[in-house]
Amino acid sequence: MQTSQSHSPAHHRGTNPESPLQVVLSSALAALLALAAFHLSLVASALPPTPEQAVMVGRAIDILDAKGFRTEALLLRHGATFRETDNWLNAIAHKENAFAATNFPFGIVTVYSDFYRRATDDTERAVILLHEAQHLMGKDEKAAYEYVWLHRADLGWTQLAYGTSPTYVTIEQQTREMAPALFNCPSNLWSDCTETLRVVRNEN
Ligand SMILES: [Zn+2]
Repeated sequence: MQTSQSHSPAHHRGTNPESPLQVVLSSALAALLALAAFHLSLVASALPPTPEQAVMVGRAIDILDAKGFRTEALLLRHGATFRETDNWLNAIAHKENAFAATNFPFGIVTVYSDFYRRATDDTERAVILLHEAQHLMGKDEKAAYEYVWLHRADLGWTQLAYGTSPTYVTIEQQTREMAPALFNCPSNLWSDCTETLRVVRNEN
């Protein structure tokens, strides 16, 4: 009976202590594999958007790109995995809103039915994705709401044009709660420091 014996260097490692660099590299590899497995479990536990939904998401990203939000558009196009149902982590976590949610640093953006049905058009969907793109960059909730509110006019998403839409009303309310400092300007209309419309005072 033939026996084979390996004399490859790898089999002798057990007798030699690993160098600090090897320990660091193997730990980094283990962490990377764990992260990849976690990401895969999040992606696999939720349904992808339908082709029709993917087209709507794509149109909203196109608007962001065209209006100068290049970084956000790039991140959403190439750094995000879109899902239409909650992954297991979302299912046990507090939901931030009814439009969408992002798992940082995994780049998973879950888009809910309100994004497709309650938002009135692609501009409102672009606003929602602008918020999620801030999370893709690691920003917290307050920073995401602030950024969108400060830049909403760049998307043409203003009080005059959209003030009565359910999405505008909801996001304004949420922004007032998350970033009250933006609504501390009594001389502006609705005390909104970003509002370019001014309170007209009757001089007579
Ligand atoms: Zn958010």
